Amino acid sequence: MITIDAQQLSEMRQHGERDYPFECCGLMLGRFESDGRKIVTETYPISNAREEEAKRNRFLIRPEELRRGEKYAREKGLDVVGLYHSHPDEPAVPSQYDLEHAWPTYSYVVVSVEKGRAVDLRSWEMEPDRSRFNQEEIAVSVSEARP
Ligand SMILES: [Zn+2]
Repeated sequence: MITIDAQQLSEMRQHGERDYPFECCGLMLGRFESDGRKIVTETYPISNAREEEAKRNRFLIRPEELRRGEKYAREKGLDVVGLYHSHPDEPAVPSQYDLEHAWPTYSYVVVSVEKGRAVDLRSWEMEPDRSRFNQEEIAVSVSEARP
């Protein structure tokens, strides 16, 4: 199970809509709980590093961008708990490519963007033997308003 701040859920949807018809991607920052649950309190948008024509169905995060995101997270006392990306005009289900490029323990949020509108958002975790993704339940948290 993953708990995602409501504001961050809408940021991921909006990022997917903004980059449509291309895929967007980014990091989810937060912390790992001792019981294995993940908490997402912040998202870190990353540009899609692929060539224009490949952006529609492949996402890639450059190592230096990942490092920059990890550094940013560390400075805020957060961990990278997962990645998110969008599927323009495709369901919010990871592709075979996504499976081949996934890391264990991270959560993968996929946003389905149809005709420029985010219509679905699901979170997935890879089976440790890398055979498949399992959908994981998303709990939505609402952060307290700051004075
Ligand atoms: Zn994908």
